[in-house]
Amino acid sequence: MKNIVVLGAGFGGLKAALKLEEKLKTLASSSDKASESKEDWSVILIDKNSYHTYTAALYEAASAYRWRGMASMSPYGGSPEGRQKFEETLAEYVCLPINQIISNKNITFVQDSVSGVDFWNNEVKLENGDSVRYEYLVFALGSETVYFDIKGAEKCCYTLKTLEDAFSIRRRIEKVFSNAVKGNPIKIVIVGGGATGVETIAEIATYTRCLARDHKLNYADVHISLLEARDTILSSSPKLQRDKSIKRLEKLGVEILTNTRVQEVMSECVLFEDGEKCDADIVLWSGGIKGPALLSAKGGKMKGLELNDEGFIVVDKFLQAKGLRKVFAIGDNAAFIDEATGSRTPATAFIAEQQADAVSENIMRISTGQPLAEYKARTPGYVISCGGKYAVAYLFGLTFSGFFGWCVKKLIDLKYFLSLFSFREALLLWLRELRLFTKND
Ligand SMILES: Cc1cc2nc3c(=O)[nH]c(=O)nc-3n(C[C@H](O)[C@H](O)[C@H](O)COP(=O)(O)OP(=O)(O)OC[C@H]3O[C@@H](n4cnc5c(N)ncnc54)[C@H](O)[C@@H]3O)c2cc1C
Repeated sequence: MKNIVVLGAGFGGLKAALKLEEKLKTLASSSDKASESKEDWSVILIDKNSYHTYTAALYEAASAYRWRGMASMSPYGGSPEGRQKFEETLAEYVCLPINQIISNKNITFVQDSVSGVDFWNNEVKLENGDSVRYEYLVFALGSETVYFDIKGAEKCCYTLKTLEDAFSIRRRIEKVFSNAVKGNPIKIVIVGGGATGVETIAEIATYTRCLARDHKLNYADVHISLLEARDTILSSSPKLQRDKSIKRLEKLGVEILTNTRVQEVMSECVLFEDGEKCDADIVLWSGGIKGPALLSAKGGKMKGLELNDEGFIVVDKFLQAKGLRKVFAIGDNAAFIDEATGSRTPATAFIAEQQADAVSENIMRISTGQPLAEYKARTPGYVISCGGKYAVAYLFGLTFSGFFGWCVKKLIDLKYFLSLFSFREALLLWLRELRLFTKND
């Protein structure tokens, strides 16, 4: 049996495993000879978690409003059991069980942390001491937050990458509002005006409006600031969409401070390079990403893997890792330079899925002796959620903003759920998610 091993069950890895399984099935049904070859192959998916994190819902989990009338939940500021129950409910929409997704697929799921890869012996090493042999290997281990060595940033800031991060943010915000003294300002700061920073702060703005009301505080005392080192936020978005997003943030009361470089983050205070500082009850960090530490870990855990300066895997036009013919990298892991833009393809779920498609095709080609196909990045559009039922969507040359943009965003969610679950399961998940996440809108 030859294994095609996929590391990571995020957007890229999960899609790659599903596509490979589908292609092997098609190959098997297309000819008897192929059917023999299908018997020889197995798809193994490895992830440290038992679930697939739907990152697009993380902002919502960090800011979902536990409204007073919610059945079987304690009222706001109530018992720890009430909060735990609410968090368990939120988890259902962010953490999608991998075993359910692959339940009727010929994919073997291994839940463990990858601790290294021996590229000479084609073996993946796992934390529990086991190893898994591979014929072809796909890296899809995602990315980590980068703090650019800014003093105190990692220690004092909240970041949003996992469900636990989302809960830490909401617990801190809940605490700040519970302890707030009427008339005293509440200060929330986020560093980084990329899409993630904008979407996070916009959701937090709508959420804190509800909290201020519940705690009988004046919303004018809630100060929310978005800090950006460049001269504009959303610098990679076209002007029209950027301007609409800025207008929306301003309407939500978010103060946007551009050309503002952070020098140090202390507990409850941010120091800028120009010597100014601002107080903050909570500082969120959305400053950027780097390759997972494991890839560059000392001790030869990944000896032979070439990385760029940011720790991402250097790949060629076929998404093959440099110098390693049987190894591919996709999604946030891959440093694929798009010829059209001269820069790295954006770190988005859409690109991760697109690259998963390309790599599963190339693995089938290589294993059946066909020439590899070049990967060409396509970006038909994007959506930026700007809090509540408002989003700016740019799709196939058309811009939808406000409620229609939000509808586009929700339809993209539904399309994604449909790609993982049965029609009924996907629809139920989507409807329940809609109900839960619109309470602060
Ligand atoms: C808050 C937030 C919101 C976002 N919203 C959007 C959005 O709306 N639209 C969009 O297009 N993009 C969005 N993104 C970006 C998008 O989530 C990423 O670009 C995408 O997840 C990349 O997919 P991936 O497969 O490369 O990595 P990931 O989806 O991050 O998957 C990596 C997987 O590897 C696993 N893993 C990591 N290390 C190990 C290890 N050592 N052993 C085993 N398993 C491991 C992880 O558990 C994870 O399942 C968002 C990102 C964030 C943080």
